[in-house]
Amino acid sequence: MTERIKMNFKKSEKLYKKGLKNLVGAVNSPVRAFASVGGNPLFIKKAKGSKIIDVDGNEYVDFVLSYGPMILGHRHKKVQKAVTKALKNGYSFGASTENEIKLAKIVCDAFPGMDKVRFVNSGTEAVLSGIRLARAFTGKDKIIKFSGCYHGHQDALLVAAGSGLATLSLPGSKGVPEGAVKNTLIANYNDIESVKAHFDKHNDIAGVIIEPVGGNMGVVVPQNDFLKELKELAHKNGAVLIADEVMTGFRSKFGGAQELLGVEADITCLGKVIGGGFPVGAYGARNEIMENVAPLGGMYQAGTLSGNPIAMAGGISTLTELKKQNPYEQFEETASILEVILLEKAKKHGVDLVVNRFGSMINPFFTKEAVNNFADAQKSDTEKFAVFFWEMIKNGVFLPPSQFEAWFLSSALTEKDIEKTSKAIGKAMEAVAKM
Ligand SMILES: *Cc1c(COP(=O)(O)O)cnc(C)c1O
Repeated sequence: MTERIKMNFKKSEKLYKKGLKNLVGAVNSPVRAFASVGGNPLFIKKAKGSKIIDVDGNEYVDFVLSYGPMILGHRHKKVQKAVTKALKNGYSFGASTENEIKLAKIVCDAFPGMDKVRFVNSGTEAVLSGIRLARAFTGKDKIIKFSGCYHGHQDALLVAAGSGLATLSLPGSKGVPEGAVKNTLIANYNDIESVKAHFDKHNDIAGVIIEPVGGNMGVVVPQNDFLKELKELAHKNGAVLIADEVMTGFRSKFGGAQELLGVEADITCLGKVIGGGFPVGAYGARNEIMENVAPLGGMYQAGTLSGNPIAMAGGISTLTELKKQNPYEQFEETASILEVILLEKAKKHGVDLVVNRFGSMINPFFTKEAVNNFADAQKSDTEKFAVFFWEMIKNGVFLPPSQFEAWFLSSALTEKDIEKTSKAIGKAMEAVAKM
């Protein structure tokens, strides 16, 4: 309680006002603006392990983890050492380095469906290139995506695109011409019939793109054999399955959601954890598909900073340490503990709550009914979430500022962190009940 009274956000408020002059909304990515929870965004000073500290000196257990990448927690010693060492040799060369080969091997070993990989600088780039590759390989144009799945901010997929847009209640985005989305078809998550309907109607579908576990409409898990059926259906119709594992790659399991769910995609897109906090994205597939990419094939895709040596060092050291730690069972246990705490405290205070989780991703939805797709998720009471969010902040827990963003676990979490989080959840549910 004393901790709560002491907490103030004066320096964050000052920086926010200052930032408004030359930055759009004082942020460089809209979800950081706290638009859906109200109040001003926090400015961060530093982070270490499982904790993040704002400019006013308030310390939080961090479940944002930079929206996923910091799976080892912040500033892991081995990563810091590897990156510092790389810095001494130069920042960027415009020519190949050995570390690109090393990271490529780690990635291809983790995903059996990938013989070759191409590194890019973000998840957005990984997916837009993956889509281009699906079209190059099949010679077809149309792409099926699922309502509520987010695949980065490329024009073609910025429709029915989950969290950021859901939070801001935008139907898509201004500035995206109709022509850019005319080859995009929308289906419903966990609804194979909605996919079949598109294949029945169109014969020029290049691929189906999916988050194998939804993370951008809150956590939504594929039911039964949904992914297997999806792959069969795509192949039957001469289309490819594109797994957008930007969020789930190395996070659900070292080999991503594909390993955990036993479904191998034709094209896989990666980001977030793969760079351990540095800008790395990647797309990969078996040889037959990747041979379409320049310089081997006719699909052009390039990048001045792609395979950046500092970012490669961050990725290699993060993934090497992650593989050694193998924290996936621990994640499962911690997530199940959090689920129980959330449901118990909600019940105690008479708050309707559904908890979805998958590996190290977990999401409480303020709703009564099961959440298996975007429409279900949207039934959540976002005002309750906003109250919950700020009470968690005031009790030292940093969550993504949106009902529709997954909470992430890091392997740096301690029992003490979970105790603190548990107490905060109790207070936050009490505050929600009093609304
Ligand atoms: C975050 C995310 C992206 C976009 O990645 P950026 O690095 O933000 O461009 C794409 N797909 C999924 C599933 C994501 O979670």
